[in-house]
Amino acid sequence: MSITTVVAEAAVEELKKQVRGELIRTGEPSYESARKVWNGMIDRRPAVIVRCSGVADVIDAVNFARDSNVPLAVRGGSHSAAGLAMCDDGLVIDLSAMRGVRVDPRARTVQAQGGLIWADLDRETQVFGLATTGGTVSNTGIGGLTLGGGLGWLMGKHGFACDNVLSIDLVTANGEVVTASPSEHGDLFWALRGGGGNFGVATSFEFQLHPVGPAVLGGMVIHPLARAREVLRFYREFCRGLPDEAEAFAALLTSPDGNPVIALLLGYNGPLDEGERVLAPARHFGPPVADLVGPMPYVQRQRLIDDPLGVNGIHRYWKSGFASELSDAFIDLMVERAGRLLSPMTVIGLFYVHGVAGRVDPGATAFGLRANQWDFDIISQWTNPTETAIHVQWTREFWAAAEPFTTGAVYVNHIAEDEPGRVPAAFGGNYDRLVSIKTKYDPSNLFRLNHNIKPRA
Ligand SMILES: Cc1cc2nc3c(=O)[nH]c(=O)nc-3n(C[C@H](O)[C@H](O)[C@H](O)COP(=O)(O)OP(=O)(O)OC[C@H]3O[C@@H](n4cnc5c(N)ncnc54)[C@H](O)[C@@H]3O)c2cc1C
Repeated sequence: MSITTVVAEAAVEELKKQVRGELIRTGEPSYESARKVWNGMIDRRPAVIVRCSGVADVIDAVNFARDSNVPLAVRGGSHSAAGLAMCDDGLVIDLSAMRGVRVDPRARTVQAQGGLIWADLDRETQVFGLATTGGTVSNTGIGGLTLGGGLGWLMGKHGFACDNVLSIDLVTANGEVVTASPSEHGDLFWALRGGGGNFGVATSFEFQLHPVGPAVLGGMVIHPLARAREVLRFYREFCRGLPDEAEAFAALLTSPDGNPVIALLLGYNGPLDEGERVLAPARHFGPPVADLVGPMPYVQRQRLIDDPLGVNGIHRYWKSGFASELSDAFIDLMVERAGRLLSPMTVIGLFYVHGVAGRVDPGATAFGLRANQWDFDIISQWTNPTETAIHVQWTREFWAAAEPFTTGAVYVNHIAEDEPGRVPAAFGGNYDRLVSIKTKYDPSNLFRLNHNIKPRA
């Protein structure tokens, strides 16, 4: 739909004149590529995409969407499985050109613009041998990931991405720029650390950095699926004894040569020799058919599972929940389904949350699900769009069988498009406070194309 069906063309022309960045409309040469997101299943057609160059463009775009009463989406790295970065018939604030970074090596902090992806941030901070907890796939946006919480390779030692945020510059629903920090807009600062994109457009993040690398221990060990039951039973005990410095994730997937396998993804964030000692039991168990663990640059570990997860345009459908136990029956279910994956790109993943990430007071940030637990994910991926129905059905059936083994809580960033009712389950006891803060800063729910926290009427 053309935006002229909802607002006057003259108003769009006026916006185009105001912004420094690109304004892209239906039918223009860059429109088709600009509306594409990570999940190929998402086929939305916004009327206008404003590829912002800076804060002033963001303010103009927010004011325009609000005053014209058109749907407003915000695009960070475009990795939301639910496709939340795009909308139909409305306006998209596209932050992908706002990728400035400035590291302060003395203070060990970084100021990072809201459209950066983790690969950008890691590259710049590693110049100084520094890093902060980021996503496990390098082209995920720092914006959506951090605002929702942010699980990654450093979470045991340094907490989630949101635990390392020092301040956030935000354009609010009324077009004002505020800095949220422990000393300014404290309620907003609390809500932005886990509450998602509900409160405004984050134009810049300030993160605490930590000495990491350049070499870290990381990699995976691989076993055939036939050994998966015993490997997962070993894995659940191994996780229980992990020091904060170590990470251990597990994935049931198909190897490049087409065989079903189980992989343990291992990492250590500290001296290499200590890491060798801590990770040794997981490398010797079995033994595995391949042990690919070794010292590697931090940025390489950050890309370890990019293929195919980081590839844009593949069709995806995702189900997820937290599990506090990996019972034998749950393990049996995962192994049984892994034996009949519908696609060689589909992955069943377990990300273990522990250490600092699990110990933070649940009331300290909006991300309230603090415990030692696994984030369980069914990530179905396929390339042929005509097969969508069977992959979605397979995933839903698997999830229906798996859900009783989960706690009922879910990571907000992993909620599927068809599950808006699960949003309160992402916040535990923090939901009511989030509703109050949403009501204060965005009473008309301008920012609603997200895992939405509805303001009070
Ligand atoms: C392959 C893959 C791997 C992943 N791995 C991890 C992982 O290791 N750890 C983890 O915690 N999560 C992970 N996720 C989930 C990820 O955190 C979410 O998909 C997150 O929303 C991605 O952020 P984005 O900016 O790329 O997304 P987008 O699709 O651009 O945006 C997602 C949501 O965030 C909002 N948003 C984005 N940027 C801003 C901003 N600057 N200001 C305001 N709102 C904004 C959007 O409006 C939208 O509602 C992964 C997702 C994928 C697809």
